[in-house]
Amino acid sequence: MKKQFYKLSQAFLFLVLLTFSQCKKTDVKATAPAVDIKIKNTSSFAAPGPGGGVLMQAFYWNTPAGSWWTTVNGKIAAWDAAGISAIWLPPATKGQSGGSSMGYDPFDYFDFGTYNQMGSVTTRFGNLTDLNTLISNAHSHNIQVYADMVLNHSSGGALEANPYTGTNTYTKFIPLSGKFPRTYSDFHPNNIHASDEGAFGGFPDLCHAQANVSNWVYNATYSMSRYYKNTMHYDGWRFDYVLGYGAWVVQNYVNSVGGFAVGEDWDGNAANLQNWVNATGGTSSAFDFACFYAMHSAFDSNDLTHLNDDMLLKRNAAKAVTFVSNHDTDIIGNKYSAYAYIMTHEGYPCVFYNDYETWLTKSRMNNLIWIHRTLAGGTTTNLYSASDQYIDRRNGYGAAPGVIVYFNGTDYWQQQWVTSNWANKQIKEYTGVSSWIQTVAADGRVLIQAPPHAYSIWSVTGY
Ligand code: ZN
Ligand code: CA
Repeated sequence: MKKQFYKLSQAFLFLVLLTFSQCKKTDVKATAPAVDIKIKNTSSFAAPGPGGGVLMQAFYWNTPAGSWWTTVNGKIAAWDAAGISAIWLPPATKGQSGGSSMGYDPFDYFDFGTYNQMGSVTTRFGNLTDLNTLISNAHSHNIQVYADMVLNHSSGGALEANPYTGTNTYTKFIPLSGKFPRTYSDFHPNNIHASDEGAFGGFPDLCHAQANVSNWVYNATYSMSRYYKNTMHYDGWRFDYVLGYGAWVVQNYVNSVGGFAVGEDWDGNAANLQNWVNATGGTSSAFDFACFYAMHSAFDSNDLTHLNDDMLLKRNAAKAVTFVSNHDTDIIGNKYSAYAYIMTHEGYPCVFYNDYETWLTKSRMNNLIWIHRTLAGGTTTNLYSASDQYIDRRNGYGAAPGVIVYFNGTDYWQQQWVTSNWANKQIKEYTGVSSWIQTVAADGRVLIQAPPHAYSIWSVTGY
């Protein structure tokens, strides 16, 4: 969720950082050879979900109104070729603001652009047929589709007398789909609770302990979870604002139909993120906000030792969804280094639509996605840690040989002797910045280099 004033301040900060990072990029290009473009090959081992796949956040704030599902549908084939294995779509049902809603003000959880209510038949993103076409096309490319579930609150109800507040409240919901009608007793305060873990803005706050709510969300045969899974054919779930309600709601939802799940637990504390994942019974991953803030500190403040900070990916790699920016927050200036970090480290990386389609160079992004899916794997060992240079080794796993990733925060090319896992083998640099082919000594030692304010990624030759 977001608030507009917050977005404006972020936009200003982003412009400042973008200007700064553009200067750095020019320096890099002056010394770096062309990127060796590698994209997904047919022998790729990676499947959707944690353990090899790459997620695309397939929207941004205030996408053009009208036909977004069709726009995304037109990207599917290229994203598949680039190695994207799943997409996260915005909340797809009718919000209070009808055809202009980004979906985070849910009114009718079963109106995907079919009913004339809230001033519009279609949603901001299109109609039901457009969405069905998109999901079907994604599946034909073996790309999974995740729904954005806004379960903390509803919006757009009619005014009614509320005995629990003694006032009139906007809590009477009579959706034209006929599904999930709600009244004052379904919201806080009611006969069960005065409140729950959190409320968002002034939105009516759903009480998940109320049987009418739990039945419609996950419990009954007619539940939202079953409809989204079995009728709409969504494969997974992104839960919005999970700080606003108990983790048991996510657990029950996922247990009702299965599928990959990730929660927006907006908290930079890695222990808190791990606690939330544990509280869902391990049914859900969490966005790694700890990694996000650590990368911002490391790459934008000239102190790479922040990469040693605690992160969810270091505590529970299988449950960390890593990201560089999203529709709510965009504070990292040196985005290429941040993407190089998440694509070479543990966790399930999520690419932001605007970064991929608009702001960054697609060939460089595709190269990093290819590295993630083909080379990166296994545990991580830090080889060198200083404020201006930082080197990590992924130790390899299964078909993935592992990588050595070298971040350089200085104004000059740097080089370091490191210990690899590849005795007596040849290694090369896979992003195209260095043409060195190095032979590793019998004890694993090898000399590698990295360009100024950027990164190099090394592995054995032959890929
Ligand atoms: Zn409650
Ligand atoms: Ca709540």
